Amino acid sequence: MEKKNYFSPSRFYCIETICAPCGVVIAWTKFAKSESPTKILKFLANTYPDEATRPDYICIDKACQVLRTSIQNGSWDTWSNTSRIIVDAYHYINHRTTDWMCRTYCNPAPLDGSASNLVIEAETKDGEKYLKRAFNTQACEQLNGWIGGFDSILKRMSIDNFNWFLHVMLFYHTQNTLDKIEQRTRKKKDNNNMSDSDNDNDDDEIM
Ligand SMILES: [Zn+2]
Repeated sequence: MEKKNYFSPSRFYCIETICAPCGVVIAWTKFAKSESPTKILKFLANTYPDEATRPDYICIDKACQVLRTSIQNGSWDTWSNTSRIIVDAYHYINHRTTDWMCRTYCNPAPLDGSASNLVIEAETKDGEKYLKRAFNTQACEQLNGWIGGFDSILKRMSIDNFNWFLHVMLFYHTQNTLDKIEQRTRKKKDNNNMSDSDNDNDDDEIM
């Protein structure tokens, strides 16, 4: 009897999030019991009902399964107009050797020029050129790790408290991320101004 009343959201739900490479949380939802490619596609369609707002790249740990399902259920007909589904860099290591489809279509950093804005040319201190990933595909992993820290609190909550708590935490997380981005931008600006005034000083010294 008592067991019946016992509620443990983490046993019945898994939390799914959509987050931007900068760490801003765009959407979250709960999936009953487990995640499946079909549920992931539904979540994406609900978050981006308007084709014009869809992202160029969607990075998912099980990208190849989601892509397969999307082709099978026909939703790829519209998704393919706007977006490409890629595996995140961490998971790609485990996917690529055996899976032709994953290797061909879900590579997070193809070097064959097929997705030039995923790979950019950078330069080392010594002026040596090399290719690097244009985006941090770990933002979601980091977010998941952070949410995981609240697991023991979340699993003792009623469903309403669970929804409220998670939403508030993700809201603050996003505010915090935006603050950090602003601080970084301001610092960069200040540094630029400082080097300008350094130059001014130099000029003074010369005079
Ligand atoms: Zn794969």
